[in-house]
Amino acid sequence: MRSCTHRAGPTGVEMAGQIAELAHRALRGNFRSIDPAQARVVLLDAAPDVLGPFPERLRRRTADGLGKLGVEVRLGAQVTGVDAAGLEIAGGGPAQRIEARTKIWAPGVTASTLGQLLARATGAPIDRAGRVNVEPDCTIPGYPEIFVVGDLMALDRLPGVAQVAIQSGRHAAGTIADRLHGRDHTTAFRYRDRGTMATISRFRAVGKVGHRTAGLRPDCGAESTTSSGYRGRSGRGRP
Ligand SMILES: Cc1cc2nc3c(=O)[nH]c(=O)nc-3n(C[C@H](O)[C@H](O)[C@H](O)COP(=O)(O)OP(=O)(O)OC[C@H]3O[C@@H](n4cnc5c(N)ncnc54)[C@H](O)[C@@H]3O)c2cc1C
Repeated sequence: MRSCTHRAGPTGVEMAGQIAELAHRALRGNFRSIDPAQARVVLLDAAPDVLGPFPERLRRRTADGLGKLGVEVRLGAQVTGVDAAGLEIAGGGPAQRIEARTKIWAPGVTASTLGQLLARATGAPIDRAGRVNVEPDCTIPGYPEIFVVGDLMALDRLPGVAQVAIQSGRHAAGTIADRLHGRDHTTAFRYRDRGTMATISRFRAVGKVGHRTAGLRPDCGAESTTSSGYRGRSGRGRP
């Protein structure tokens, strides 16, 4: 039994960790004819690291944690071909084939085609992912009445995460409410990064809140370290 997850961002890391946990622990001993513990779980990425946006210490810790769960992490490996029985990879040596009937593709999402419609109608530029470039106040250039927020918005290289969507949506709603009350001013959208977390498996996660980074391990709760070297412990859960 083999499973391959392609792309070692948060989604790929979480997926690989959960599949390994299911196969090697939760389902162990539940079947007569197959042994889930024999499953081979491979996480592939063309990048040199897992969880690119996280600090180096957490990237290392994530790769170690996945290894302990039995996930084979193969970095610098580009997927060049896929068929029903497996996939071909290249990078760091001769091309190789991995036999795997279950393949999970997790290289991110492209923006809704609504972005292209807006771009055609207004002349607004769109980026490679199909997101609409907006003014600092989240409106389309030359169209102060059209707001683009969340995943469809391209602004200051902000990531496509729920917090950006929630905060930019609130910003647009606040501006519209202000206008309805006769306060017609323009305020730039300011994103407050409340942190990022990837849950690798049961009791194993990494997180970043402001300058703090944390690796959650089964044996010691959450360990947090600030850039000034402070080490402390905090509760479990989302930042
Ligand atoms: C697998 C996965 C895991 C994720 N995990 C996390 C996570 O752990 N933490 C995190 O912060 N973020 C996560 N994200 C990202 C997060 O889901 C998005 O950033 C967030 O949902 C963006 O919100 P949004 O409202 O901009 O877009 P969406 O939530 O995508 O909502 C857009 C809506 O618009 C609708 N729509 C699209 N085109 C049209 C049209 N032409 N007409 C009418 N309606 C239309 C769509 O159907 C959809 O309902 C994850 C994303 C994915 C795919």
